[in-house]
Amino acid sequence: MPELPEVETVRRQLAPHVEGRTISAVRIDDPRWCAPQDAAEVEERLTGRTIAALGRRGKHLIASLDDGQQLLMHLRMTGIILWDPDDGAPYERVRIHFGDAHAIAFCDPRRFGTGLLLPDEAARDEYLDARLGPEPLDPAVFTDDVVARVLRGRDAPVKGILLDQTKIAGIGNIYADEALFRAGIHPARPGRMVKRAQIGPLREGIVESLQMGIASGGASIDDFRHLDGARGSFQDDFLVHRREGLPCPDCGHEITKLVVAGRGTYVCEVCQPPPRSMPRSARPVKSRKSTPVKPAE
Ligand SMILES: [Zn+2]
Repeated sequence: MPELPEVETVRRQLAPHVEGRTISAVRIDDPRWCAPQDAAEVEERLTGRTIAALGRRGKHLIASLDDGQQLLMHLRMTGIILWDPDDGAPYERVRIHFGDAHAIAFCDPRRFGTGLLLPDEAARDEYLDARLGPEPLDPAVFTDDVVARVLRGRDAPVKGILLDQTKIAGIGNIYADEALFRAGIHPARPGRMVKRAQIGPLREGIVESLQMGIASGGASIDDFRHLDGARGSFQDDFLVHRREGLPCPDCGHEITKLVVAGRGTYVCEVCQPPPRSMPRSARPVKSRKSTPVKPAE
């Protein structure tokens, strides 16, 4: 599932192509993409508009149009965007044509991806502010104090808190595991039990993991692809995620898999000591297969 680095990879690749280009036609084959908005109406409102800027917040791609309208696109589990795709690309749901014979296609086998057209920046900000916490790659808003406040008083496991988009935007299962390993914090530790001295390393672990992901063009462990169909390579640089049974890169201890916050979670329990309150029964369960879970937004 695309997380912040994968969406930022798409944004960086797509922006030079679409910024300044005028939409000549839109074809929404799957009305579920923009539901409950009417597909024909969305097609009409987009046609003739120029994309002024392509931005991102959390896992949302945001096309700002020249008349102020804002198209928010979310890839969800399996969405990808292709530039100048062949006709009838696999799992194509939406195609946006530009006047100079270029096009993008939104392809998505599981069809959870969405497009939401909002009238202006105020509506965009209201929508996103209600759903997203601070942007972790913006040092002005993502500070140690913010991380401390997000964890304070919470019994939920720290990993579950990191996955909650309303607390911090853009982190999913991969980058939560990688960030917690970098910070030496066990994913099941209750938020309120994270020590003050661990807050700085956790913030740095989040930022570093996301930046590494972006530098590698994202991770392609499942459907994620670049604009031209190429794969990201961050999966080759995972420290703990999906490395069950392999040695910890720091201490050599075997990486174990457990379930935290309903998600397959990878941990070195030497570098990330389990919380003392954690019952034995909740300690690592050997499992060979991860169960796909439909993630929350
Ligand atoms: Zn270790």
